[in-house]
Amino acid sequence: MQIPFDNTYARLPARMFTPQRPTPVRAPDIIATNADLAALLGIDPAEMTTAEATQVFAGNQIPDGAMPIAQLYAGHQFGNWNPQLGDGRAILLGEVIGTDGIRRDIQLKGSGRTPYSRGGDGRAWLGPVMREYLVSEAMNALGVPTTRALAAVTTGEEVYREEVLPGAVITRVAQSHIRVGTFQVLAARGDLEALQALTDHVITRHYPQARGPADLLDMVIARYANLIARWMGLGFIHGVMNTDNVSIAGETIDYGPCAFMDVYHPDTVFSAIDQFGRYSYANQPNIGAWNMAQFATALIPLMADRDQAITDFTAAVHRFPDLYQAAWLKVFAGKLGLQEPLPDDQKLITDLLDLMAHDGADFTQTFANLGKASARDQFLSRKNFDDWEERWQARAPDAELMKRTNPQIIPRNHRVEEAISAGRTGDFGPFHALLAAVTQPYAPLTETNAAFVRAPAKDERVTRTF
Ligand code: AMP
Ligand code: MG
Ligand code: MG
Repeated sequence: MQIPFDNTYARLPARMFTPQRPTPVRAPDIIATNADLAALLGIDPAEMTTAEATQVFAGNQIPDGAMPIAQLYAGHQFGNWNPQLGDGRAILLGEVIGTDGIRRDIQLKGSGRTPYSRGGDGRAWLGPVMREYLVSEAMNALGVPTTRALAAVTTGEEVYREEVLPGAVITRVAQSHIRVGTFQVLAARGDLEALQALTDHVITRHYPQARGPADLLDMVIARYANLIARWMGLGFIHGVMNTDNVSIAGETIDYGPCAFMDVYHPDTVFSAIDQFGRYSYANQPNIGAWNMAQFATALIPLMADRDQAITDFTAAVHRFPDLYQAAWLKVFAGKLGLQEPLPDDQKLITDLLDLMAHDGADFTQTFANLGKASARDQFLSRKNFDDWEERWQARAPDAELMKRTNPQIIPRNHRVEEAISAGRTGDFGPFHALLAAVTQPYAPLTETNAAFVRAPAKDERVTRTF
């Protein structure tokens, strides 16, 4: 299989990664391949479905030009410093430059142990692989910066969690897998040479306009503030915003126990391990600022005048809330069909969200149906909604804009779980049907995709993800 690799990360100081081949699996079988993404990467889509490709996406065969490595990083997990993490179950095959001129990583996840695996088995089970495939491709179709899914395979091997589960490998594509935690590990070790090399690499690769660490910090902060505002506009909850899961390129990365809210409530948490709601829906922007403070801290050692840098970088991090707020206003005003938000629109938006929270309205359906009679059905206090609607209509909303900003179809949790359950029995029909629907989130409803619009009934609701 021909993949036009052009690897640069593997030329950085050797202590930033470990050469590591995937561990072969017994009996790989393809679940899905992504022909459009293949074409973007300069891979012949016809090659994606060959037996050889299945071996590549399982980690059983290393394609020519790949330089498989596991990347070193550290991170704050739920606020606690962990001095060494790294790719414990992922292996970077290499980088390709797409037909759009953008350099991207191709990485296997679930491909076996590495020196950074600690107690882990280096494997992934089918459920999270299917969820990441569905949700990352949905996010891309929704216009949110994200890693993508190039392929997924079952391994024919068992994975042991609380129970015995089928193993799987996902091949994901990112502008890079460099994280806040990649900077943190080098700063914590006082390895200024590697920290400088990483910074130069990131500037060349992702922020060519940046003249140094201070500019880089500003630009990463701006991208990350925008990213979180986009999540909020979709009711998306990442679930594990640890600093090792924050992409420096500003993409949504590391889909674990993530989910889209059905019923709107700001305190919503899905992740079973997020006991105190650190990564709840409404706390995501606060954590965003916290994560940028950690990034700023990791850049300080590069600065000649550290005291001055602390002052400047603190000010940069303190700009996060305003940048986020402006991005949030733009996103939610757009959802209300308001191209140019006015100062009062902030209150118009929060008043609607308050009513939604109070009455348990479905997030996606409320916005998708605003202006139609069916939006009103989401509310118990119809009078309050009618009063709100009158204020909103007075702002002359643009219905066309609303069609582009309010998806009908998101990968609802109960649908994702349903697809995973079927996948566990070897039936990937529901997965492919859901994938087709969620990758056309703004399409007019047809008989086929209308089935995916519906919010879960009470007994279908999935409130915990793992
Ligand atoms: P996460 O919270 O999923 O981003 O993972 C945190 C760290 O744990 C990363 O260093 C992962 O590579 C590692 N990790 C997670 N699951 C496994 C596993 N099954 N085997 C080895 N390492 C793992
Ligand atoms: Mg991670
Ligand atoms: Mg993860």
